[in-house]
Amino acid sequence: MQVVILAGGRGTRLGEHAQTIPKPMVAIGERPNLEHQILLAQRHGFTNVLLLVSHLSERIESHFGGGERFGVKISYCAEDPPLGTAGALRHASQLLEDRFLVLYGDIFIDCDLARLWAHHVDSRALATLVVHPNDHPDDSDLVETDADGRISAIYPKPRPENQYLPNSVNAGVAVIEREILAMIPPGQHLDLARDIFPALARNGRLRAYHSAEYFKDFGTPDRLAHVRSDFESGKTARLSRSHARPAVFLDRDGVINKDVSHLSNPAQMELIAGAAESIRRLNQAGYLVIVVTNQPVVARGECSLDALRLIHSKMETLLGRERAWIDALYFCPHHPDKGFAGEVPELKFDCMCRKPKTGMFDQAVRDWNVSLAGSYCVGDSRRDIVAARRMGIVPVGVRTGSACLDCDALDLPDWLADDLRGAVEIILASSGSAQS
Ligand SMILES: [Mg+2]
Ligand SMILES: [Zn+2]
Repeated sequence: MQVVILAGGRGTRLGEHAQTIPKPMVAIGERPNLEHQILLAQRHGFTNVLLLVSHLSERIESHFGGGERFGVKISYCAEDPPLGTAGALRHASQLLEDRFLVLYGDIFIDCDLARLWAHHVDSRALATLVVHPNDHPDDSDLVETDADGRISAIYPKPRPENQYLPNSVNAGVAVIEREILAMIPPGQHLDLARDIFPALARNGRLRAYHSAEYFKDFGTPDRLAHVRSDFESGKTARLSRSHARPAVFLDRDGVINKDVSHLSNPAQMELIAGAAESIRRLNQAGYLVIVVTNQPVVARGECSLDALRLIHSKMETLLGRERAWIDALYFCPHHPDKGFAGEVPELKFDCMCRKPKTGMFDQAVRDWNVSLAGSYCVGDSRRDIVAARRMGIVPVGVRTGSACLDCDALDLPDWLADDLRGAVEIILASSGSAQS
């Protein structure tokens, strides 16, 4: 398998850190970033490495040579002048295999690349982009995906204040089919994200791979300091999907947002005070934050799937403005009782996902390699508490929303907090963080 690394970047904004070396050669721990990437790729079975170089390329070639030291075969392709990410690929077309992984050399990455590759192969897309939530979505280009994982649109920044989008940021890692080279005219300065991917999205041939792993650009001295400290503390490796991580499962209505009966309109989505800050603390402690929510309003015909998507996009936008994110969201659109005007008959059945059943939790565990040991569930009703018990994770009740008033003596939560803030206080005090 082939990995192509875009290593032509200049570290203009990195000042003294990259004056005499190309940006991908900046050290993280004891190795240049590019060496981390090559070793990561090699561990996942990529032994053919193509480096697209320009600025100070001799520094790269003298360090890596033919790659023998790293267990890979390295070739180089130099562009002068720089052609942008798509232009550089076109320029290197003679050296590209039919399918290749692309990494940006100025991003620190710890990701299960083999799983990403397999996901792409199964999808028949022309390209698969890794997307992830970050703590500054308003300042990032965002992608929107449909229920099948196809990217339906890309929204570059800046965007209007009232445009609500999911917190799905292009992470700078993609698997690409050679076929797309036909879309790139030779000799032009063209950018994959700006000039090529939007057209693929319009044709339905671009897919997203959602990840909660570590991807961070180190383009400013501040960010570089961050990445270095995350690497030294072991955080970058801990977030890798190859390690099971504990999760905090959150109910939605009455826990994150104010409970209005039958919420069906984005205007009704309002965060409970302190919810964003609490979720941010869970993010920073290394927990997966996973929302599991019953939304029978869909089966009742009161809220379309499009409206629900917009409601969740608004929630993610509001959280993102306070630097908080959720890693995944599962909803149950079903309801068991038939016979009401306006209902959606095909969603009216006794499903396996409606809490207190555990279908959404089970799916999340499979999707995200969740460690149930050390995981929690925060909810405001008996269904949440019972589901948590069935999963063998710690239920924490809150007094917001339905306030767990429907819990009888047998179904009491382990803890009852005033609100999500109190619940997170309890979680962090009893476990410190998800780092164990
Ligand atoms: Mg609730
Ligand atoms: Zn369901």
